[in-house]
Amino acid sequence: MKEKKTASERTEEYLETIYHLTEGGKELSVSLVSQKLGISAPSVFEMFKRLVDEGYLTSSGRGNYSLTEKGRAMGEKIVRRHRLLERLLVDVLKMDWGIAHEEACRLEHGMSPEMEKSLAATLGNPSTCPHGNPIPGESEKRSQEIPLADLPRGKKGIISRIIDEEREFLRYLASLGILPGVEIKVEEIAPFGGTRLVSIGKSRYSISDEISRKIMVEKE
Ligand SMILES: [Zn+2]
Ligand SMILES: [Zn+2]
Repeated sequence: MKEKKTASERTEEYLETIYHLTEGGKELSVSLVSQKLGISAPSVFEMFKRLVDEGYLTSSGRGNYSLTEKGRAMGEKIVRRHRLLERLLVDVLKMDWGIAHEEACRLEHGMSPEMEKSLAATLGNPSTCPHGNPIPGESEKRSQEIPLADLPRGKKGIISRIIDEEREFLRYLASLGILPGVEIKVEEIAPFGGTRLVSIGKSRYSISDEISRKIMVEKE
């Protein structure tokens, strides 16, 4: 969010981020969004005030906010366009999956409902983005999904999605072969901090607890 944006693009960007952050059931707060966007808490607070005035957010008082119906609908619309664009960039234009998220964020604001419709149809109405996150409006069937961090020692799972779509993080995961659809097994869990030794095919890697909270798996 470094380049100049119009007020409506900024609103869309915030609602998109809020929608994504609260998809997993997290409490919405100024600090959560400030961390995610790398914007100072006072600026985020100002923006939240505006979003409340414009009817996109409600405030419960004690620093907690939630999306109104209007805010949710707007967030969902942008997330849908964003994830369809990621599919276009990765599947059709063969661009790197690490960069797809940032590229999609630049393009999503200009898209008309007509383009969204034909894009979805051209792509065969995909149900997830290339990182495995659900495209709203499609069959949102999330089966028994848990964070890799909750998979017990000795158990296997199939990677369903990567929650954090930050470029370097995705590149790192791809270099280990951590991609949606791939089987992963927890070999060992270290005490105190919970670093995990995991295996993917014949390779073994140790990954931190923090990383294993951003990888969702379906238990086998
Ligand atoms: Zn976006
Ligand atoms: Zn994605």
